[in-house]
Amino acid sequence: MPGGRLNLPHSKFALAGESNQADRSNPPPRRTDDMADPTPTKPGDPDLKSRLTDEQYQVTQCSATERAFTGKYWNTHDDGIYRCVVCNTELFRSEEKFDSGSGWPSFWRAAAGDRVKEVEDRSHGMLRIEVQCANCGAHLGHLFDDGPAPTGQRYCINSAALDLEKR
Ligand SMILES: [Zn+2]
Repeated sequence: MPGGRLNLPHSKFALAGESNQADRSNPPPRRTDDMADPTPTKPGDPDLKSRLTDEQYQVTQCSATERAFTGKYWNTHDDGIYRCVVCNTELFRSEEKFDSGSGWPSFWRAAAGDRVKEVEDRSHGMLRIEVQCANCGAHLGHLFDDGPAPTGQRYCINSAALDLEKR
């Protein structure tokens, strides 16, 4: 490269180390190296903490993952609708639930109407597709492409993000 000099498109890098008031009013996009950062990345409803259990809060607001085979619904076969534990939106249905062997509730399709949002997740040194509630942004789990027919998809969802309304 001529002169060996980097052409930085933005002055931010040159200012690193200096106190820059202007930058504070303009927060950077969501961090991707947030492994060690337990701070929630989304602004939360203040009464969510009292309304949800610790685990439900950690999973939905801080993108935590419940331990496999410990959640409420990984081995549930009841008929019903799985709703978002935060905002009650219908997200998944028992008809599309299957036994994945993973220890988490798994679905091969989400409920109709774009109820879930799929977002690129580069945390923990992996590239995965994060699944969020499209209505409230709650973290639900991840989407993998090793599911059964007809979709070949596997929505790997935390029990703690769900509330089963039995039929
Ligand atoms: Zn929701």
